[in-house]
Formats: sequence, C-alpha cells, structure tokens
Amino acid sequence: MAEKRKYKKRYCKYCEAKVDFMDYKDAGALRFSLSERYKIMPRRLTGNCKRHQDMISVVIKRARAAALVPYTVTRKTVVTAPFENLK
Ligand SMILES: [Zn+2]
Repeated sequence: MAEKRKYKKRYCKYCEAKVDFMDYKDAGALRFSLSERYKIMPRRLTGNCKRHQDMISVVIKRARAAALVPYTVTRKTVVTAPFENLK
C-alpha cells in the first residue's frame, strides 16, 4: 500500500463502453491502449480483456500501416501529450 500505483483500478474500458467493433481510423479510441511512445500497452497495465486487447492490437497495427499512428518515436519527438492533435 505504500507505493502509489501508476494505473489505478483495472477494468476494460472497451467493455465498459460496449465496443463491439473498432475502427482503425478512430484514433480517439486507440489512444487508451497506446503508451506515450505509441507502443501498445500490455494488458496487465491497461486491464483490457483478452477479446478487446486482441482487437486493439489488430487495429493499431492497421492504423500504423495507414500512417495514422507512428511505428516509432525518436527521443526528440517524445511529447508529454501526444494525442492532443489526434482527435
Ligand atoms: Zn473488453
């Protein structure tokens, strides 16, 4: 209890929103599962369920191929709020 958890309560945000289908063009939904360096967040941190994590991984990879989400981020382009322009 002494240390503060980085991610509070874990639950699947996509189950809560009752997401059945994800669109790779919908960057707003993808950002829940991307780190600040645009890496796909592991399920143990986000609390996503297996079903939605699988969907997310497919959709993010599609979005990367469509150049909506970068594959890599160099040290210079790391910003604290990378998703502000991504809505
Ligand atoms: Zn879910």
